[in-house]
Amino acid sequence: MGITRAVYPGSFDPLTFGHLDVIRRASNLFEEVIVGVASNDAKAPMFSTEERIAMIEEETRDMANISVRKIEGLLVSFAREEKAMVVIRGLRAVSDFEFEFQMALMNRSLEPRLETVFLTPKEDYTYLSSRIVKEVAQLGGDVTKFVPKAVVERLRSKCVRAK
Ligand code: ADP
Repeated sequence: MGITRAVYPGSFDPLTFGHLDVIRRASNLFEEVIVGVASNDAKAPMFSTEERIAMIEEETRDMANISVRKIEGLLVSFAREEKAMVVIRGLRAVSDFEFEFQMALMNRSLEPRLETVFLTPKEDYTYLSSRIVKEVAQLGGDVTKFVPKAVVERLRSKCVRAK
């Protein structure tokens, strides 16, 4: 058996302390973790793929086994190319379960060797989502408790520009 390489896919629009908590847990569990940033223009992200990658790179510098890459196309194809056998997803609450379960089984049907592993963040982050952080920031609320400092700055400049 080779090394256990895992991929943690998502939009990360933007990166939150919830995502970082999952990344840190994965970094302790697997030899290598690739954070895969989905370049899904259909979701009309606030931040470009490059900006989302830069945010994650800045905040994971202290974790030697983490790398960040763009995902184009199917997750299972990306995982195959990167020789990753594990997909990591975060589970916050029961509400995440149905969609995550469906996706895990779809991915298994596309690539039976790929295992999905669910990690649960620290309780403080179970209510956090990128969507709610963006909403609060757009309405001028303080998001310093939810995202790293550099992300707060990036959100501020986006929201000022949008006004
Ligand atoms: P997607 O657009 O694919 O849902 P996200 O960037 O929202 O991507 O999330 C990527 C993954 O991180 C998903 O598995 C999601 O459940 C998980 N996640 C998002 N926010 C949190 C959080 N606060 N705590 C733990 N996991 C989270």
